[in-house]
Amino acid sequence: MYDIKGIREDFPILSRTVYDKPLVYLDNAATTQKPRFVVNTIVSEYYSVNANVHRGVHFLSQQATDLHERSREAVRKFINARSVSEIVFTRGTTESINLVASSFVCSQMKPGDEVIVSVMEHHSNIVPWQLQAERFGIVLKVIPMNDRGELLLDEYERLFSKRTKLVSVTHVSNVLGTVNPIERIIGIAHDYGVPVLVDGAQSIPHMPVDVQALDADFYVFSGHKVYGPTGIGVLYGKEYWLEKLPPYQGGGEMIQKVTFEKTTFNELPFKFEAGTPDYIGSVALSNALGYISMLGMDQIAEYEHQLMCYATERLKEIPGMRILGEAEHKSGVISFLVGNIHPFDMGTLLDRLGIAVRTGHHCAEPLMHRLGIEGTVRASFALYTTKEEIDALVEGILRICKMFE
Ligand code: PMP
Repeated sequence: MYDIKGIREDFPILSRTVYDKPLVYLDNAATTQKPRFVVNTIVSEYYSVNANVHRGVHFLSQQATDLHERSREAVRKFINARSVSEIVFTRGTTESINLVASSFVCSQMKPGDEVIVSVMEHHSNIVPWQLQAERFGIVLKVIPMNDRGELLLDEYERLFSKRTKLVSVTHVSNVLGTVNPIERIIGIAHDYGVPVLVDGAQSIPHMPVDVQALDADFYVFSGHKVYGPTGIGVLYGKEYWLEKLPPYQGGGEMIQKVTFEKTTFNELPFKFEAGTPDYIGSVALSNALGYISMLGMDQIAEYEHQLMCYATERLKEIPGMRILGEAEHKSGVISFLVGNIHPFDMGTLLDRLGIAVRTGHHCAEPLMHRLGIEGTVRASFALYTTKEEIDALVEGILRICKMFE
Protein backbone atom coordinates (compact mmCIF):
# COMPACT_ATOMS: atom_id res chain seq x y z
CA MET A 1 0.00 0.00 0.00
CA TYR A 2 1.34 3.40 -1.02
CA ASP A 3 0.20 5.64 1.84
CA ILE A 4 0.18 8.96 0.00
CA LYS A 5 -1.56 10.78 2.86
CA GLY A 6 1.02 9.61 5.39
CA ILE A 7 3.86 10.41 2.99
CA ARG A 8 2.60 13.97 2.46
CA GLU A 9 2.52 14.47 6.23
CA ASP A 10 6.27 13.81 6.25
CA PHE A 11 6.76 16.96 4.12
CA PRO A 12 5.57 19.97 6.18
CA ILE A 13 5.91 22.45 3.29
CA LEU A 14 3.22 20.63 1.29
CA SER A 15 0.53 21.82 3.67
CA ARG A 16 1.32 25.52 3.32
CA THR A 17 -0.64 27.96 1.21
CA VAL A 18 0.50 30.55 -1.32
CA TYR A 19 -1.77 33.50 -2.16
CA ASP A 20 -4.26 31.90 0.27
CA LYS A 21 -4.45 28.82 -1.93
CA PRO A 22 -3.15 25.35 -1.15
CA LEU A 23 0.31 24.93 -2.60
CA VAL A 24 0.44 22.62 -5.63
CA TYR A 25 4.15 22.02 -6.04
CA LEU A 26 4.94 20.72 -9.53
CA ASP A 27 8.54 21.91 -9.85
CA ASN A 28 10.20 18.77 -8.54
CA ALA A 29 12.65 18.45 -11.42
CA ALA A 30 14.19 21.74 -10.25
CA THR A 31 14.30 20.65 -6.63
CA THR A 32 12.34 18.31 -4.39
CA GLN A 33 10.88 19.12 -0.99
CA LYS A 34 12.49 17.62 2.12
CA PRO A 35 10.94 15.24 4.59
CA ARG A 36 10.98 16.23 8.27
CA PHE A 37 13.38 13.34 8.89
CA VAL A 38 16.03 14.93 6.64
CA VAL A 39 15.68 18.46 8.03
CA ASN A 40 15.76 17.14 11.61
CA THR A 41 19.03 15.37 10.81
CA ILE A 42 20.62 18.69 9.88
CA VAL A 43 19.42 20.42 13.04
CA SER A 44 20.34 17.63 15.39
CA GLU A 45 23.78 17.06 13.89
CA TYR A 46 24.63 20.76 14.18
CA TYR A 47 23.39 20.77 17.78
CA SER A 48 25.00 17.57 18.94
CA VAL A 49 27.84 16.29 16.75
CA ASN A 50 29.22 19.24 14.80
CA ALA A 51 33.02 19.07 14.34
CA ASN A 52 35.31 19.03 11.35
CA VAL A 53 35.90 15.51 10.05
CA HIS A 54 38.96 13.33 9.40
CA ARG A 55 41.61 15.40 11.16
CA GLY A 56 40.47 15.41 14.74
CA VAL A 57 41.54 13.19 17.62
CA HIS A 58 38.68 14.38 19.81
CA PHE A 59 35.37 12.65 20.41
CA LEU A 60 33.12 14.91 18.33
CA SER A 61 35.41 14.91 15.33
CA GLN A 62 35.56 11.14 15.37
CA GLN A 63 31.80 10.86 15.72
CA ALA A 64 31.23 13.31 12.84
CA THR A 65 33.77 11.41 10.72
CA ASP A 66 32.04 8.16 11.50
CA LEU A 67 28.64 9.58 10.46
CA HIS A 68 30.10 11.08 7.28
CA GLU A 69 31.79 7.83 6.25
CA ARG A 70 28.70 5.79 7.11
CA SER A 71 26.81 8.10 4.75
CA ARG A 72 29.25 7.29 1.99
CA GLU A 73 28.54 3.62 2.60
CA ALA A 74 24.77 4.36 2.43
CA VAL A 75 25.25 6.04 -0.97
CA ARG A 76 27.37 3.11 -2.15
CA LYS A 77 24.66 0.69 -1.15
CA PHE A 78 21.89 2.79 -2.71
CA ILE A 79 23.46 2.74 -6.18
CA ASN A 80 25.20 -0.62 -5.65
CA ALA A 81 28.75 0.58 -6.27
CA ARG A 82 31.50 -1.97 -5.60
CA SER A 83 33.35 0.09 -3.04
CA VAL A 84 33.18 3.31 -1.03
CA SER A 85 36.37 4.37 -2.84
CA GLU A 86 34.13 4.92 -5.86
CA ILE A 87 31.84 7.42 -4.09
CA VAL A 88 33.09 11.02 -4.24
CA PHE A 89 31.05 13.70 -2.50
CA THR A 90 30.71 16.88 -4.57
CA ARG A 91 28.44 19.92 -4.53
CA GLY A 92 26.07 18.32 -7.04
CA THR A 93 25.62 17.08 -10.59
CA THR A 94 27.20 20.19 -12.06
CA GLU A 95 30.36 19.92 -10.00
CA SER A 96 30.59 16.18 -10.62
CA ILE A 97 30.51 16.69 -14.39
CA ASN A 98 32.99 19.56 -14.20
CA LEU A 99 35.30 17.34 -12.17
CA VAL A 100 35.24 14.55 -14.75
CA ALA A 101 35.46 16.99 -17.67
CA SER A 102 38.46 18.70 -16.14
CA SER A 103 40.37 15.63 -14.96
CA PHE A 104 39.47 13.30 -17.83
CA VAL A 105 40.17 15.67 -20.71
CA CYS A 106 43.56 16.87 -19.46
CA SER A 107 44.80 13.36 -18.70
CA GLN A 108 43.12 11.10 -21.27
CA MET A 109 42.56 13.26 -24.35
CA LYS A 110 44.59 15.02 -27.03
CA PRO A 111 43.59 17.88 -29.35
CA GLY A 112 41.12 16.53 -31.93
CA ASP A 113 39.82 13.76 -29.63
CA GLU A 114 36.04 13.57 -29.28
CA VAL A 115 33.35 13.53 -26.59
CA ILE A 116 29.81 12.46 -27.53
CA VAL A 117 26.86 14.15 -25.79
CA SER A 118 23.19 14.23 -26.80
CA VAL A 119 20.93 16.97 -28.09
CA MET A 120 18.81 16.81 -24.92
CA GLU A 121 21.57 17.59 -22.40
CA HIS A 122 21.24 20.11 -19.58
CA HIS A 123 23.74 22.96 -19.93
CA SER A 124 25.75 21.37 -17.14
CA ASN A 125 26.55 18.47 -19.47
CA ILE A 126 27.45 20.75 -22.38
CA VAL A 127 29.32 23.78 -21.08
CA PRO A 128 31.97 21.90 -19.01
CA TRP A 129 32.99 20.07 -22.21
CA GLN A 130 33.02 23.33 -24.16
CA LEU A 131 35.31 24.88 -21.57
CA GLN A 132 37.69 21.95 -22.02
CA ALA A 133 37.29 22.19 -25.82
CA GLU A 134 38.58 25.76 -25.67
CA ARG A 135 41.51 24.75 -23.50
CA PHE A 136 42.51 21.45 -25.10
CA GLY A 137 41.05 21.54 -28.61
CA ILE A 138 38.74 18.56 -28.10
CA VAL A 139 35.63 18.14 -30.24
CA LEU A 140 31.97 17.70 -29.17
CA LYS A 141 29.71 15.43 -31.18
CA VAL A 142 25.95 15.36 -30.63
CA ILE A 143 23.47 12.44 -30.73
CA PRO A 144 20.30 13.62 -32.51
CA MET A 145 16.73 12.63 -31.59
CA ASN A 146 13.42 12.03 -33.39
CA ASP A 147 10.38 14.26 -33.00
CA ARG A 148 9.05 12.15 -30.13
CA GLY A 149 12.17 12.99 -28.16
CA GLU A 150 13.97 9.64 -28.49
CA LEU A 151 17.69 9.46 -29.20
CA LEU A 152 18.59 7.93 -32.56
CA LEU A 153 20.84 5.03 -31.69
CA ASP A 154 21.90 4.29 -35.28
CA GLU A 155 23.08 7.85 -35.64
CA TYR A 156 24.76 7.56 -32.25
CA GLU A 157 26.74 4.57 -33.39
CA ARG A 158 27.82 6.42 -36.52
CA LEU A 159 29.38 9.16 -34.38
CA PHE A 160 32.11 6.86 -33.06
CA SER A 161 35.58 7.21 -34.50
CA LYS A 162 39.08 6.28 -33.42
CA ARG A 163 39.17 9.64 -31.66
CA THR A 164 36.09 9.09 -29.48
CA LYS A 165 37.27 9.05 -25.86
CA LEU A 166 34.11 9.54 -23.78
CA VAL A 167 30.31 9.53 -24.01
CA SER A 168 28.40 11.78 -21.58
CA VAL A 169 24.62 11.41 -21.70
CA THR A 170 21.66 12.07 -19.48
CA HIS A 171 19.66 9.12 -18.17
CA VAL A 172 16.38 11.09 -18.11
CA SER A 173 15.73 14.38 -19.90
CA ASN A 174 14.78 17.22 -17.57
CA VAL A 175 12.63 18.73 -20.34
CA LEU A 176 11.10 15.84 -22.28
CA GLY A 177 11.02 13.25 -19.52
CA THR A 178 12.51 10.73 -21.97
CA VAL A 179 14.11 7.78 -20.20
CA ASN A 180 17.05 7.05 -22.47
CA PRO A 181 18.02 3.41 -23.14
CA ILE A 182 21.12 3.93 -21.08
CA GLU A 183 22.18 0.26 -20.93
CA ARG A 184 22.26 0.15 -24.74
CA ILE A 185 24.02 3.50 -24.93
CA ILE A 186 26.67 2.20 -22.53
CA GLY A 187 26.86 -1.18 -24.29
CA ILE A 188 27.50 0.42 -27.68
CA ALA A 189 30.18 2.74 -26.24
CA HIS A 190 31.89 -0.19 -24.54
CA ASP A 191 31.92 -2.11 -27.84
CA TYR A 192 34.13 0.74 -29.05
CA GLY A 193 36.17 0.68 -25.84
CA VAL A 194 34.79 4.08 -24.76
CA PRO A 195 33.68 4.88 -21.18
CA VAL A 196 30.35 6.55 -20.39
CA LEU A 197 29.32 9.24 -17.91
CA VAL A 198 25.63 9.11 -17.01
CA ASP A 199 23.92 12.29 -15.79
CA GLY A 200 21.57 10.79 -13.24
CA ALA A 201 20.12 14.08 -11.90
CA GLN A 202 16.64 13.20 -13.15
CA SER A 203 16.76 9.42 -12.82
CA ILE A 204 17.94 8.90 -9.25
CA PRO A 205 14.67 10.20 -7.66
CA HIS A 206 12.41 8.14 -9.91
CA MET A 207 13.80 4.65 -10.44
CA PRO A 208 16.11 2.07 -8.89
CA VAL A 209 19.68 2.62 -10.11
CA ASP A 210 22.36 -0.06 -10.04
CA VAL A 211 25.62 1.29 -11.41
CA GLN A 212 27.14 -2.18 -11.71
CA ALA A 213 24.17 -3.56 -13.65
CA LEU A 214 24.27 -0.49 -15.91
CA ASP A 215 28.05 -0.86 -16.18
CA ALA A 216 28.29 2.96 -16.02
CA ASP A 217 31.84 4.28 -15.78
CA PHE A 218 30.66 7.48 -14.10
CA TYR A 219 27.23 8.25 -12.68
CA VAL A 220 26.46 11.65 -11.14
CA PHE A 221 23.56 13.16 -9.22
CA SER A 222 22.47 15.97 -6.87
CA GLY A 223 21.20 15.50 -3.32
CA HIS A 224 18.55 18.21 -3.56
CA LYS A 225 16.71 16.47 -6.39
CA VAL A 226 16.36 13.30 -4.36
CA TYR A 227 14.77 14.75 -1.18
CA GLY A 228 18.16 15.63 0.32
CA PRO A 229 19.76 19.00 1.04
CA THR A 230 21.24 21.46 -1.43
CA GLY A 231 25.00 21.74 -1.74
CA ILE A 232 25.81 18.03 -1.82
CA GLY A 233 25.96 15.58 -4.66
CA VAL A 234 27.75 12.47 -5.78
CA LEU A 235 30.23 11.38 -8.38
CA TYR A 236 30.34 7.62 -8.75
CA GLY A 237 33.32 6.52 -10.81
CA LYS A 238 34.75 3.08 -11.42
CA GLU A 239 37.91 2.72 -9.38
CA TYR A 240 39.79 1.97 -12.60
CA TRP A 241 38.97 5.44 -13.94
CA LEU A 242 39.21 7.40 -10.70
CA GLU A 243 42.70 5.98 -10.15
CA LYS A 244 43.72 7.19 -13.60
CA LEU A 245 42.39 10.74 -13.21
CA PRO A 246 44.40 13.55 -11.59
CA PRO A 247 42.89 15.59 -8.71
CA TYR A 248 40.38 18.29 -9.62
CA GLN A 249 41.09 20.78 -6.85
CA GLY A 250 43.98 21.10 -4.41
CA GLY A 251 43.87 21.73 -0.68
CA GLY A 252 43.42 19.89 2.59
CA GLU A 253 41.96 16.37 2.74
CA MET A 254 43.16 15.40 -0.74
CA ILE A 255 46.85 15.17 0.10
CA GLN A 256 49.09 12.51 1.59
CA LYS A 257 52.29 14.51 2.02
CA VAL A 258 53.09 18.09 1.13
CA THR A 259 56.49 19.70 0.73
CA PHE A 260 57.38 22.72 -1.36
CA GLU A 261 59.17 20.37 -3.72
CA LYS A 262 56.49 17.72 -4.18
CA THR A 263 53.02 16.75 -3.01
CA THR A 264 51.58 13.25 -3.03
CA PHE A 265 47.85 12.66 -3.06
CA ASN A 266 45.48 10.87 -0.75
CA GLU A 267 43.84 7.58 -1.68
CA LEU A 268 40.37 7.37 -3.28
CA PRO A 269 37.91 8.92 -2.84
CA PHE A 270 39.65 11.65 -0.81
CA LYS A 271 41.93 12.56 -3.71
CA PHE A 272 38.90 14.32 -5.20
CA GLU A 273 37.60 15.92 -2.00
CA ALA A 274 39.73 18.99 -1.36
CA GLY A 275 38.76 21.07 1.67
CA THR A 276 36.23 20.50 4.43
CA PRO A 277 33.49 18.28 3.02
CA ASP A 278 29.79 18.89 3.63
CA TYR A 279 29.72 16.31 6.42
CA ILE A 280 26.29 17.48 7.59
CA GLY A 281 24.89 17.37 4.05
CA SER A 282 26.23 13.87 3.48
CA VAL A 283 24.40 12.56 6.55
CA ALA A 284 21.18 14.33 5.53
CA LEU A 285 21.55 12.91 2.01
CA SER A 286 22.01 9.39 3.32
CA ASN A 287 18.87 9.82 5.41
CA ALA A 288 16.97 11.02 2.34
CA LEU A 289 18.12 7.89 0.51
CA GLY A 290 17.11 5.87 3.57
CA TYR A 291 13.66 7.46 3.48
CA ILE A 292 13.00 6.59 -0.16
CA SER A 293 14.49 3.12 0.28
CA MET A 294 12.02 2.56 3.08
CA LEU A 295 9.16 3.51 0.71
CA GLY A 296 10.78 1.31 -1.95
CA MET A 297 12.14 2.59 -5.26
CA ASP A 298 10.03 0.08 -7.20
CA GLN A 299 6.87 1.30 -5.47
CA ILE A 300 7.80 4.94 -6.08
CA ALA A 301 8.46 4.21 -9.76
CA GLU A 302 5.14 2.40 -10.11
CA TYR A 303 3.18 5.16 -8.34
CA GLU A 304 4.82 7.88 -10.43
CA HIS A 305 4.24 5.92 -13.62
CA GLN A 306 0.52 5.88 -12.90
CA LEU A 307 0.62 9.62 -12.18
CA MET A 308 2.45 10.25 -15.43
CA CYS A 309 -0.15 8.31 -17.45
CA TYR A 310 -2.98 10.11 -15.66
CA ALA A 311 -1.41 13.55 -16.16
CA THR A 312 -0.70 12.91 -19.84
CA GLU A 313 -4.27 11.77 -20.45
CA ARG A 314 -5.80 14.69 -18.58
CA LEU A 315 -3.56 17.32 -20.16
CA LYS A 316 -4.42 15.99 -23.61
CA GLU A 317 -8.08 16.83 -22.94
CA ILE A 318 -7.16 20.52 -23.09
CA PRO A 319 -7.83 22.13 -26.49
CA GLY A 320 -4.63 23.44 -28.09
CA MET A 321 -2.42 21.30 -25.83
CA ARG A 322 0.97 20.37 -27.29
CA ILE A 323 3.08 18.01 -25.23
CA LEU A 324 6.79 18.21 -25.99
CA GLY A 325 8.33 14.78 -25.71
CA GLU A 326 6.23 11.72 -26.37
CA ALA A 327 8.84 9.03 -25.97
CA GLU A 328 7.72 5.50 -25.20
CA HIS A 329 9.51 5.59 -21.85
CA LYS A 330 9.05 8.75 -19.83
CA SER A 331 9.53 9.69 -16.22
CA GLY A 332 8.93 12.58 -13.88
CA VAL A 333 8.41 15.46 -16.29
CA ILE A 334 5.81 16.77 -18.74
CA SER A 335 6.62 19.82 -20.85
CA PHE A 336 3.87 21.53 -22.78
CA LEU A 337 2.58 24.57 -24.63
CA VAL A 338 -1.06 25.58 -25.00
CA GLY A 339 -2.29 27.43 -28.12
CA ASN A 340 -0.42 30.69 -28.48
CA ILE A 341 -0.12 31.33 -24.77
CA HIS A 342 3.43 32.26 -23.88
CA PRO A 343 4.91 29.81 -21.32
CA PHE A 344 5.87 32.70 -19.05
CA ASP A 345 2.25 33.98 -18.99
CA MET A 346 0.98 30.48 -18.30
CA GLY A 347 3.49 29.97 -15.48
CA THR A 348 2.79 33.34 -13.89
CA LEU A 349 -0.98 32.85 -13.95
CA LEU A 350 -0.74 29.29 -12.65
CA ASP A 351 1.40 30.63 -9.81
CA ARG A 352 -1.46 32.97 -8.83
CA LEU A 353 -3.60 29.86 -8.45
CA GLY A 354 -1.03 28.37 -6.10
CA ILE A 355 0.42 26.05 -8.73
CA ALA A 356 4.22 26.04 -9.00
CA VAL A 357 5.51 25.01 -12.43
CA ARG A 358 8.66 26.02 -14.26
CA THR A 359 8.78 27.93 -17.52
CA GLY A 360 11.52 28.74 -20.00
CA HIS A 361 14.35 26.80 -21.62
CA HIS A 362 15.07 24.66 -18.53
CA CYS A 363 18.85 25.04 -19.04
CA ALA A 364 18.60 23.15 -22.32
CA GLU A 365 18.81 25.84 -25.00
CA PRO A 366 20.21 23.54 -27.72
CA LEU A 367 17.19 21.27 -27.18
CA MET A 368 14.83 24.26 -27.50
CA HIS A 369 16.60 25.09 -30.74
CA ARG A 370 16.04 21.53 -31.99
CA LEU A 371 12.34 21.79 -31.08
CA GLY A 372 12.08 25.19 -32.75
CA ILE A 373 10.67 26.87 -29.65
CA GLU A 374 11.87 29.33 -27.03
CA GLY A 375 10.59 27.51 -24.00
CA THR A 376 7.93 25.33 -22.43
CA VAL A 377 5.84 25.06 -19.29
CA ARG A 378 7.09 22.11 -17.28
CA ALA A 379 5.17 20.19 -14.64
CA SER A 380 7.32 17.71 -12.77
CA PHE A 381 6.29 15.12 -10.25
CA ALA A 382 7.58 13.55 -7.07
CA LEU A 383 6.69 10.67 -4.81
CA TYR A 384 4.22 12.94 -2.94
CA THR A 385 2.37 14.33 -5.99
CA THR A 386 -1.34 13.48 -6.11
CA LYS A 387 -3.96 13.06 -8.83
CA GLU A 388 -5.84 15.94 -7.19
CA GLU A 389 -2.85 18.18 -7.85
CA ILE A 390 -2.85 17.15 -11.48
CA ASP A 391 -6.59 17.93 -11.61
CA ALA A 392 -5.83 21.36 -10.13
CA LEU A 393 -3.22 21.92 -12.84
CA VAL A 394 -5.66 20.96 -15.60
CA GLU A 395 -8.42 23.16 -14.16
CA GLY A 396 -5.95 26.02 -13.79
CA ILE A 397 -4.83 25.73 -17.42
CA LEU A 398 -8.46 25.64 -18.61
CA ARG A 399 -9.21 28.79 -16.60
CA ILE A 400 -6.22 30.57 -18.08
CA CYS A 401 -7.20 29.46 -21.60
CA LYS A 402 -10.61 31.10 -21.06
CA MET A 403 -8.89 34.38 -20.14
CA PHE A 404 -6.99 34.30 -23.43
CA GLU A 405 -10.03 33.50 -25.58
N1 PMP B 1 21.46 17.58 -15.29
C1 PMP B 1 20.12 17.51 -15.35
C2 PMP B 1 19.48 16.51 -16.26
C3 PMP B 1 19.35 18.34 -14.54
O1 PMP B 1 18.03 18.28 -14.59
C4 PMP B 1 20.00 19.26 -13.68
C5 PMP B 1 19.22 20.22 -12.80
N2 PMP B 1 18.13 20.81 -13.41
C6 PMP B 1 21.40 19.28 -13.66
C7 PMP B 1 22.09 18.42 -14.48
C8 PMP B 1 22.16 20.22 -12.76
O2 PMP B 1 21.96 19.89 -11.44
P1 PMP B 1 22.55 20.80 -10.25
O3 PMP B 1 22.13 22.21 -10.57
O4 PMP B 1 21.93 20.26 -9.03
O5 PMP B 1 24.02 20.64 -10.29
